[in-house]
Amino acid sequence: MTGTVFVATCDLAGLTRGRSVPGAEHDAVLRRGVGWVPADLALTCFGGIAEDNVFGSTGDLRLMPDRATGVVIPESDGHPAVRLYLADQTLPDGTPWHCDPRTVARSALAELRERVGLEVVASFEHEFTVAGLEPTAPFSFARHRAVEPFGTELVELLGEVGLAPETWLPEYGENQFEITLEPCDGLVAADRAVLLKELVRDLARRRGHRVSFAPLLDPEGSGNGVHLHLSLRDVSTGRPVLLDETRPGRLSEVGARFAAGILAHARALTAITAPSPTSFLRLTPHRWSVGGVFLAERNREALLRICPTSTVGGGRADQQLNLEYRAADATANPWLVLGSLVRAGLDGILGETDEPMVWPEDTTEAQLAEVLPLPATLAEALGELERDETVLGWFHPDLVRTHLDVTRAQLAVVEGLTAEQICRRVADVY
Ligand code: GLU
Ligand code: MG
Repeated sequence: MTGTVFVATCDLAGLTRGRSVPGAEHDAVLRRGVGWVPADLALTCFGGIAEDNVFGSTGDLRLMPDRATGVVIPESDGHPAVRLYLADQTLPDGTPWHCDPRTVARSALAELRERVGLEVVASFEHEFTVAGLEPTAPFSFARHRAVEPFGTELVELLGEVGLAPETWLPEYGENQFEITLEPCDGLVAADRAVLLKELVRDLARRRGHRVSFAPLLDPEGSGNGVHLHLSLRDVSTGRPVLLDETRPGRLSEVGARFAAGILAHARALTAITAPSPTSFLRLTPHRWSVGGVFLAERNREALLRICPTSTVGGGRADQQLNLEYRAADATANPWLVLGSLVRAGLDGILGETDEPMVWPEDTTEAQLAEVLPLPATLAEALGELERDETVLGWFHPDLVRTHLDVTRAQLAVVEGLTAEQICRRVADVY
């Protein structure tokens, strides 16, 4: 094979980092991986390493590529081809590293399977903004065409590399677009969320566009969310288990308990799912991001939305019903987002949590005044994470410590800047 093979992980700031080897080493790198450094997990999104991190200057790891994640970005216009693999971070002897986010996701899914016989079907839906286009109307055909041929090439590329694109749409915000992928196995969905952003950025760069997945580009503007759609399947029968027509919101008891676990720990979870200095500027009411900690039927201000189903063309409600977690963004690590939501949901299934209120579609804003608010700032969310013993128990203490160090170091970098300036700093990274 010519070109290079890039072996990557995704860090706590949601950035894809790794190393490449010559194409001729392809088979060897799949077998042996490449070297990596524990303190790489303490890198901030602005480049520096969080000071006083638990890893210091010692230690060595391997990035062990997972063959199933491989995608080839083909050669085009003088840009060479590259083969990209996602990797597990392991110790030099190949055993899992206790801070590896992908291992966190995998073990959460395994625990869900072993403890309650359920598996997750998931899809991450991404919004992003393309800079420098002529203004166009939201959701318009004109906007769809304004970013051609990039849009069509992107859909084709995602199809070719197996990411199963579902919808490519001109979104509401200025120059904003959204790409959704078909639902699939939970770990695969998180892998695809990592790959998707790189495929979008890489193609955009080759076509002369500047894209940003940052949660907010302008304090007054629309946010770029990452919504995680989750459903559950019985491992032994393969049947979806979220639908029960007789219950509130048509959500089965197991689905309601899964949701209850997420709601119960939501304020701490947002420190993981929305970890950048601008994430909480997006998570405010009336932006269709998240207006509070509640579960609701088809409400786009809910933390957890029970999504609609459609019977048109033979569609089956039981196969479609899913919960959408709306408080994530592209500055989060998709494996940690998935892993922590699955842990929370499992906790809800196993625990004593009360049945959650399902707010019906006709709920008024006045009625929602009683729901728990999200933390107002990232700093508040980090405090919630530090206090939530249950959530802390899902991770190795070094991983949580590093997450706190990285996110606080990022906050320190932008301290004293205006909201506009912070938005710009973060947007430039993502
Ligand atoms: N842009 C909104 C967000 O920040 C989501 C809009 C929607 O697709 O419902 O999450
Ligand atoms: Mg959207």
